[in-house]
Amino acid sequence: MKRVGVLALQGAVREHVQSIEACGAEAVLVKWPKDLEALDALILPGGESTAMRRLIDRYSLMGSLREFAASGKPMFGTCAGLILLAGKVVGYDEPHLGVMDVIVERNSFGRQVDSFEASLSIKGIDNPFEAVFIRAPHIVSAGPTTEVLCEHDGKIVMARSGQFLGCSFHPELTKDHRITEYFLSMIPSETGILLPN
Ligand code: GLN
Repeated sequence: MKRVGVLALQGAVREHVQSIEACGAEAVLVKWPKDLEALDALILPGGESTAMRRLIDRYSLMGSLREFAASGKPMFGTCAGLILLAGKVVGYDEPHLGVMDVIVERNSFGRQVDSFEASLSIKGIDNPFEAVFIRAPHIVSAGPTTEVLCEHDGKIVMARSGQFLGCSFHPELTKDHRITEYFLSMIPSETGILLPN
């Protein structure tokens, strides 16, 4: 069974756990560096990126998170989690993990619309996905290794760069688990054997 960690310091942790389990994988709460051992993939949830960053430092997790990224295993950042993954955050000198080839801007959809829903058309997902945005960031620019998977209102809201998947919204807050399934499909098969075409 695939083992997927959820960074469990702050934010929408339980909902990701439920979505992972609904997809038939095992969910593991990650609080300490040792919790990252033996995972196949990791989700960084939405919440508040500055608060999450403080807790990452308090739990001495940054080095281990970067090592996890360097190991090539899939990582998925939703909302604040996308901000944590980004190579650059507009207005900040330093990124957080800084591993995904995108520039993100925080709180991009206007103060008056703190939260809204939108029907999104996402590359690789057949029918529209009803997405919940909460004080969401967006991807200002995506590097050459990054594939844009979805735009909303002319802004990039989902992208994949190799092992890294990021979205501005909260896929775990709906009963539609197709985005979690998409992420799980990024985990190489257990045998690692590539079948001939
Ligand atoms: N605005 C939050 C931040 O900057 C992200 C919001 C969210 O994760 N729902 O971290």
